[in-house]
Amino acid sequence: MAVSVDSPDTGRPPAPRRGPVPWVAMYHSVGDCSDDPYRITVTPERLDRQLAWLRRRGLRGVSVTELLAARARGEGRNLVGLTFDDGYTDFVTEALPRLRRWNCGATLFVLPGRLGGENAWDPLGPRKPLLSADGIRSAAAEGVEIGSHGLTHVDLTKADDLTLKTEVAESRARLEELTGAPVEGFCYPYGTIDARAVEAVRQAGYRYACAIDPGPLTGPHALPRVYVGQEDTAWRLQLKHWLHRLRRRPVEGL
Ligand SMILES: [Zn+2]
Repeated sequence: MAVSVDSPDTGRPPAPRRGPVPWVAMYHSVGDCSDDPYRITVTPERLDRQLAWLRRRGLRGVSVTELLAARARGEGRNLVGLTFDDGYTDFVTEALPRLRRWNCGATLFVLPGRLGGENAWDPLGPRKPLLSADGIRSAAAEGVEIGSHGLTHVDLTKADDLTLKTEVAESRARLEELTGAPVEGFCYPYGTIDARAVEAVRQAGYRYACAIDPGPLTGPHALPRVYVGQEDTAWRLQLKHWLHRLRRRPVEGL
């Protein structure tokens, strides 16, 4: 139970609650990582070992919405957000069975402007297929939270006003129609943000958004995430978990 440090006789309203920033892990693709110039892929075996590490540490992976809801109740210190960006088909074939095995939830950030397409925005590296509308619906039916990664994967800090609004708001509307459920979360393509992009995301009605290293913009609409890759063995995860608590700013209202 947190103890209030606000003196009752100052007459000032209590300061917003500030908690240590939640741990949100960032994954992309799960599969063969022999040709992986952007280091976005972990093998299914590595993911399995990383989820086993969470279990050994008494932690459990959940969707970001579940994590934030628990934090709002003053709970959830044992929860870790698991996010998968881009919506590769290997999420359903490789990641989901492992998540199920370890009783973990996750958030999948997809691109409704590239349904059934591929990662054409990456100039290098293997083409990876993206989930179709049916694939996204099947992940949602398994309890995976579906969030928006924009329509087509553009750097929002370089987008003109119309593109920014369309990428952020239209992607949400399309996903809500596709899944028949509210879409609460957004994820900035490339992790690049500025105050204008954060405001556009807030205006579009999202309850939270994931970045990578948001610095002074850190908040519910710019949550930092920790990159987790193929090299992340148990001791490296332990180190990252520890450094995250030290280095990240506390988040107001979480
Ligand atoms: Zn992406």
